[in-house]
Amino acid sequence: GPVIDARGLVKRYESGDGYLEALKGVDIAIEPGEFVAIMGPSGSGKSTLLNMLGLLDDPTEGSVYIDGDDTAEFTDAERTTARKRTIGFVFQNFYLIPTLTALENVEVPALLDRDPATRDRAADLLSRVGLAERTDHLPGELSGGQKQRVAIARSLVNGPRLLLADEPTGNLDRETGRKVLDEFTRITESGVAVVAVTHDPQLPDYTDRTIEMVDGELSR
Ligand code: ADP
Ligand code: ADP
Repeated sequence: GPVIDARGLVKRYESGDGYLEALKGVDIAIEPGEFVAIMGPSGSGKSTLLNMLGLLDDPTEGSVYIDGDDTAEFTDAERTTARKRTIGFVFQNFYLIPTLTALENVEVPALLDRDPATRDRAADLLSRVGLAERTDHLPGELSGGQKQRVAIARSLVNGPRLLLADEPTGNLDRETGRKVLDEFTRITESGVAVVAVTHDPQLPDYTDRTIEMVDGELSR
């Protein structure tokens, strides 16, 4: 079954003395290992949908199911655990900590576990994304594509089954963007699903499915 299954998502934001409906009844199920792109104009609701799939914000109506469990019924602690175990995040601006090395950045999401194996796992992930020679570099010493590959390694450190990526190639030139997309393809081959919100016209060349979002609704 799907890793994540969103049903009937409606999201309303308060706006002036009324409200704005950013999602108008969105259904989307993501299967293990799928690579899905969500495209569409600015303001169409893509970030809002990503926030719901990432359990970062609650829908006004509808539910997000993880492995068949309705996350609306989760306690805050259960949501945090589900997010950490199941979902990794990749952002347009990388969000690396500038004073930490590449290796230390990759370890960050696992630090609270105090698991001695974390360092080895982080080193292994960095070599999988082609950065074995860059482990001790600071982000300021890395190119944009290298920074994004560090961020991808970081997103994998807790062993998620779903990566949510918000404009992952938005700050990269085409060639560097392609390398990052190749990285996502390899990740999906290991069974991890990737959902990317994007304006990048080359992304559909890499994905299994590209979904268009228009005015709070999905269309194929
Ligand atoms: P996209 O990612 O496609 O650009 P968003 O999901 O950011 O679209 O926004 C969809 C609509 O919801 C826009 O009209 C935006 O201004 C509005 N919106 C998004 N987040 C909020 C928020 N936290 N509060 C109020 N309005 C919001
Ligand atoms: P994107 O560049 O992905 O379309 P935006 O720059 O529109 O994203 O929004 C960035 C963040 O700000 C998102 O998390 C979104 O939910 C939030 N946001 C967008 N529009 C508004 C708004 N009108 N009021 C408050 N927050 C908003």
